Amino acid sequence: MTENESNKPALSRQTLRKWILIVSFLLIPVTIFYISPIVLMMGAAEGIASGSMILLILLFILSFFVARLWCGWLCPMGAWQEICSPVMKHTVQEGWRKYIKYGIAALWLGALALTLVTAGGFRSVDPFYGTVNGISISSPDVLVIVLVIFAIIFVTAFLTGRRGFCNVLCPMAVVMIAGRKIRNLVRWPALGLSADASCCIDCKKCSKECPMGLDVNGMVRSGEMENADCILCANCADTCPKGAIDYGMGRQ
Ligand code: SF4
Ligand code: SF4
Repeated sequence: MTENESNKPALSRQTLRKWILIVSFLLIPVTIFYISPIVLMMGAAEGIASGSMILLILLFILSFFVARLWCGWLCPMGAWQEICSPVMKHTVQEGWRKYIKYGIAALWLGALALTLVTAGGFRSVDPFYGTVNGISISSPDVLVIVLVIFAIIFVTAFLTGRRGFCNVLCPMAVVMIAGRKIRNLVRWPALGLSADASCCIDCKKCSKECPMGLDVNGMVRSGEMENADCILCANCADTCPKGAIDYGMGRQ
């Protein structure tokens, strides 16, 4: 029996994470407008801070302490990609594609700033902006738009690899990466990965199971577990037969 096989909580952590993601996915008809960059822009054009604007600010602040935990544990778009992962042939590969999301985020945030200036800034806050009685998908037209967006996410992940949308296109990821970079400059205690390289037997199971296609074995060996594209899903930790990786609250 390996260290992780005898460590039941580690196994149940992934079960719990998957169930949370399934619930997040099932709640999409209610929640999608509170997460949508498009609804955020529509609200900004009217000078309204919508639910998705509030969430964006919250995710930025949360990333100071938990990096991209949202992506790994709660995001319904991430949940959709994990649900579809059995039909994806490979994980995303390290490379130039991951920089596309920074260009998209720059365009989006630039357009948001311009829209806000044109609208004269925020004049009101409406967490339920765009919803009907708090429900996001309230008509067949909205349903079609949401289905098209999720089809685009599926095609992106199918072409680039599991969690490909998170790695290549998602502008919200960039906001959380920026928050984490600020934290890394100041170095207050925050959630991350920690590893004990002396336990590692270089089996590379962690790298194989990482949904973001990271060279986790290389990270363990180099002693540098910080990576902008880590979504803190803990798949690597729960896969490692030697228990070499786990969450840690560090200043590094
Ligand atoms: S490095 Fe580990 S925690 Fe980070 S995304 Fe990969 S599997 Fe998840
Ligand atoms: S799964 Fe564990 S033992 Fe295997 S390479 Fe990764 S850190 Fe090392």
